[in-house]
Amino acid sequence: MSSPEYQPVESPDASTVFEYHDLTPPTTADVYRARKTIREFIPQTPLVRSERLSTKYNAEVYLKREDTLPTGSFKIRGATNLIANIDEKFHERGVITASTGNYGRAIAHAARRFDIPAIIVVPEGTGQNQIDSIEQLGARVEILGTDYDESREWAEQQAAEQGYRYAHPGNERLVIAGAGTGGLEIAEALPEVDTVLCPVGAGSVGAGYSLSVGTVTDARMIGVQATDADAVYQAWQTGDLTPQENADTFAEGIGARVPFTVPLEIMREQLDAMFTSSESEIIETVAALFAEERILIEGACAPPISIMDQLQDDLVGETIAIPVTGRNLPLPKVRQVFQTDNL
Ligand SMILES: *Cc1c(COP(=O)(O)O)cnc(C)c1O
Repeated sequence: MSSPEYQPVESPDASTVFEYHDLTPPTTADVYRARKTIREFIPQTPLVRSERLSTKYNAEVYLKREDTLPTGSFKIRGATNLIANIDEKFHERGVITASTGNYGRAIAHAARRFDIPAIIVVPEGTGQNQIDSIEQLGARVEILGTDYDESREWAEQQAAEQGYRYAHPGNERLVIAGAGTGGLEIAEALPEVDTVLCPVGAGSVGAGYSLSVGTVTDARMIGVQATDADAVYQAWQTGDLTPQENADTFAEGIGARVPFTVPLEIMREQLDAMFTSSESEIIETVAALFAEERILIEGACAPPISIMDQLQDDLVGETIAIPVTGRNLPLPKVRQVFQTDNL
């Protein structure tokens, strides 16, 4: 079944986009609209002061517990906002996306709620916990590609050939606005916030939080990537969207080789700084958060916490907010983290 009406259109980056992808960056008003849309489906998340981090950095450090949301990550916000607004002509044919786990799981969750079929393409090596959860939500899982970007390319091709609605991993204004609703909750609970530290993969947190807490408070916005998967960090500095060869990191949730135009444009305008964290720092942070606070985080949430060591002189006396973006650490990585020399 070929659908010429769904052929890709010219893309400003190395990913595929279709006519239905509106590449106009979302605004703060879109974040408020997103909140109205998702309110009946998504609970507010706790903002909890970390005694350990506050003492360690001589600051007021708050963790935004997005890991407590259904599906275990913040991605349910953007996915719900996207699926709730999807054009009816896709309701029968369904949606497709590529994911290392959390985005696909969130899309599957939202699609089930609106009774829309979903196909989630994941790379080889994806955590069985993620695959099982996606299937439990009634979506079809396809394991294709040796890394995330290969899965993405396959999903894009299927979207063109079969006419599925492609839930783009970055260039979806509704997804960015949805992610921003978490930032809005921070702004309302903690209007005095001085600094927000965000993990950056595709950039929906970095961009969405910039449009919310970064806009309605005076907070300084900082994005952090993994040093071994720093495509967006590089593109943020230069504006050059050329993909990288590798993005091999423990933090698979932020391990993409391709920068996406819409979130990058927002982050280039709004983030005050970007940094990167090394693999050993990321793993040590996951271990420390468990050892000392009994919070199990994914590698993808660790860079903003890791970077505090480097920034500590700037952080003294500040009120700081950090989203704990997800808790779905795959079992082999749980084992790796809990080797005694990490704990
Ligand atoms: C996706 C994800 C991120 C990064 O979000 P982006 O929108 O890709 O920048 C961070 N942490 C977790 C747990 C994620 O799943």
